[in-house]
Amino acid sequence: MLAGRSSGPLGAYTSYLSESGERLTVEEAMSALRRGEFRAESRAIPSFGIGARPVWLHLPLDNPSATAQSLQLALGKPWIERLDVYFLRDGRLEKQWLSGDSAERVQAPGVGYLFPLQLPAGRSEILIRAESAEPLVVEIALLSADGIAEQERWAHYRHGLLYGFLLAFIFYNTMLYLGLRDRSNICYATYLLSYIVLSLIYTGHVNAWLWLEQEAIQRYGISVMMVLFSSTGFLFACRFLQLEEHAPVVRCWVVRISIAAICLVTLAVALGSQEGAVWVAFHYMVIFTVGMVYLGLVTVSHGERAGRYFLSAAICSMFGVALTLFSVWGFIPVNVLTFHGVEVGLALEATLFSLALASRVRKQEDARRIAEQLSRVDALTGLSNRRAFCEDAAGIWRTATRHGRPLSVIMLDLDYFKAVNDRFGHPVGDLALVQVGRLVAQCCREGDRVARWGGEEFVFLLPETTLAQACLFAERLRCAVEHCRLSTGSQTIGLSVSLGAAERRQHRSIDELLCEADQKLYEAKRQGRNRVAPAIAAPEMVDA
Ligand code: GH3
Ligand code: MG
Ligand code: MG
Repeated sequence: MLAGRSSGPLGAYTSYLSESGERLTVEEAMSALRRGEFRAESRAIPSFGIGARPVWLHLPLDNPSATAQSLQLALGKPWIERLDVYFLRDGRLEKQWLSGDSAERVQAPGVGYLFPLQLPAGRSEILIRAESAEPLVVEIALLSADGIAEQERWAHYRHGLLYGFLLAFIFYNTMLYLGLRDRSNICYATYLLSYIVLSLIYTGHVNAWLWLEQEAIQRYGISVMMVLFSSTGFLFACRFLQLEEHAPVVRCWVVRISIAAICLVTLAVALGSQEGAVWVAFHYMVIFTVGMVYLGLVTVSHGERAGRYFLSAAICSMFGVALTLFSVWGFIPVNVLTFHGVEVGLALEATLFSLALASRVRKQEDARRIAEQLSRVDALTGLSNRRAFCEDAAGIWRTATRHGRPLSVIMLDLDYFKAVNDRFGHPVGDLALVQVGRLVAQCCREGDRVARWGGEEFVFLLPETTLAQACLFAERLRCAVEHCRLSTGSQTIGLSVSLGAAERRQHRSIDELLCEADQKLYEAKRQGRNRVAPAIAAPEMVDA
């Protein structure tokens, strides 16, 4: 018996009867009630699962005040297809609202279907017949106009916060996709968007605001969106976890299951079977929640760092989705915590996925930086390569030209190196190149640039160095190589180098200067090798 209560779910004050055969009339339901066939309900929000038989709920009322009270009967959830409400006094039917009579059936998102009630003084009763192919959750509340306004306000705040949060992530991921062209970002944005659409349907926003007359959306909207939400989630997981690479067989199964679910739900819609669509959607969603955690575990077992973020995110959403799913399915009680579990789970998941995406971006950035560094280094000797040399040389050339400062280059080539390879083998030749590279690099001053020009040739760029100084330096290099002995176990190998030097004068570009140094190198070769050209006492040097 209810006295003076006007808020909160009233399920625990009701008794119920599941229709077993033909549809009962209100008189038959009342007789069944009098015969004691109704069972007492103990849950605050009665939930009878999916595919449940239509249910009658009886709510006795007692208005202890002397005057009638103006209240609204709020019935939910928004996806319930048929709600017939009968108001009785002294066993006589006083008023009834039949579902389909949409003129009187108003829905307030976050509150439920509203039925205006003039509650007279004393006792009265309400009989409700609820029917749905989707989870039969019948939340009952008696609210004053203020109570409704407050509940609606809170629902708006809650949804505003959640949708705002998720929309921010959708925007962030879309921007990342536009910038980075990584498809996992756009998959994730689609996944979140499909949840928002699903949520807008199951919270009653779509019905209340948009397609009031669209019966198809009311019948199939939730099931279809549940399947799309899970499929886009799987699609995101495949991309993000790079399953194609790490676990192609698992990916293949994920794709098959998703396609099967989409085909089955489409078939159910085509055949007009709402029960079928609901069955597919709910079972697929269970597979999806468990599947996401499984995919996280598979990736973590492959040692992928992003997999750990993914796994924690999937576990969060799994708990959230499972709470909501199993509560509306009738396995666990429906309450504020369980019903909104999916929202909390998804908000946590979005945060963790963003961390996961950020960690992926960081990893890619590190890889890019390392690749760029490596692209400037010669793999064998560890010195700069020709590309890095040319990049650095361009700046140094411009500075020297602008300020009229001396700048020299030296080209160095190992003598008869082909013979070294032929005699001792290519690996020994490589070792010789590494040793010569290390030796010549040690001879350089700070500010000088040395690089492997290609094959067995090295190049030097010497800022603030005249030709005479460059030739002296080249001579030092020549001596250093000449005196270095390469040991190959049983034998030692003597090496020599020829060098050509040139100083910037009328040259129009660094290439011209390098060309002149190369010509000098040929001169050194022609003159018998193991020498520097121009020779130290050459006339050009005296000019310089
Ligand atoms: P020259 O005194 O006229 O310079 O005679 P050379 O034999 O040094 O010159 P040539 O241009 O005929 O041959 C260069 C040789 O350097 C041939 C090639 O096998 C060898 N070489 C080039 N790059 C490498 C390398 O990375 N490792 C090894 N081991 N040998 C290399
Ligand atoms: Mg050579
Ligand atoms: Mg050569």
